[in-house]
Order: sequence, then structure tokens, then C-alpha cells
Amino acid sequence: MSVSGLPPYDPQNIFARILRGEIPCKRVHEDEFALAFHDINPLTPTHVLVIPKGEYVSAADFHGSADDAAIAGFWRAVGKVARDLGLEGSGYRILSNMGPDGGQEVPHFHVHLFGGRRLGRMMP
Ligand code: C5P
Repeated sequence: MSVSGLPPYDPQNIFARILRGEIPCKRVHEDEFALAFHDINPLTPTHVLVIPKGEYVSAADFHGSADDAAIAGFWRAVGKVARDLGLEGSGYRILSNMGPDGGQEVPHFHVHLFGGRRLGRMMP
């Protein structure tokens, strides 16, 4: 079991394959800690996913087992992506689904960045 109580990390999950370059993505940023790319099925004018480079199933897994440098590097990358995409002026939303009840489909920790229009109160 992973830290979050979800099944162990599956190295064949689609984001692992994107990280290995086996599946293409529309990349917006990459550094040693994170990869950011446009969601294949955007729900808002700007909808980007940011994923850490290590093998983490979910937010709980990432924050519970990644080292401090990886956590800081990941969140710095999230901030940079939001800035570079011009989202900071008018605002945006960061969201991470966790586990079945949280609606997580891909079992590699990721955050969604939603922006480019006025969002609904809680959900994009
Ligand atoms: O948070 P959750 O796991 O539900 O979201 C997964 C997201 O990954 C979806 O928004 C889906 O459109 C996106 N996705 C993608 N590229 C893929 C497969 C899924 O952007 N090849």
C-alpha cells in the first residue's frame, strides 16, 4: 500500500509513460522536479497538469514520502507555470483529486491548474 492507502505505484500508469517520453504531451514546463503539460481534455481555457518526477500515487503519498527538496521544487514549479501562463493577474485554481472518492483517475500525483475564465464557486 502507498502512504495514502491506495494501491502501490503502477509504473505503467499514463503519467509515468508521459514522463518516460513513451506518450506525447503538450509540455509547458519541465525541470528536475516536475513536468507540466496541457490537459488532453481541458475543462477551462487554461487547464494544465503539473506532476512530480518521482513515483507518488497521490497527494498524501507525495507529501508523506518525498524529500523536502522534491516537495519545494514541485510547488515552485507549480507557481512558475501559473506565472508563465499569465494566470496570476486574474486568479486561478489549484486542485488535486485523491483516491476513488476524490475522483482521481490517474494514479500518479498531479495538480490541475484551472484558469482563463471566472470559475464556479468550488468546481471548474
Ligand atoms: O485528477 P484526475 O486523475 O481525475 O485527472 C486526470 C486528468 O488527466 C484528466 O483531466 C485527463 O483529461 C488528463 N489526461 C491527460 N492526458 C492523458 C490522460 C489523461 O491530460 N494522456
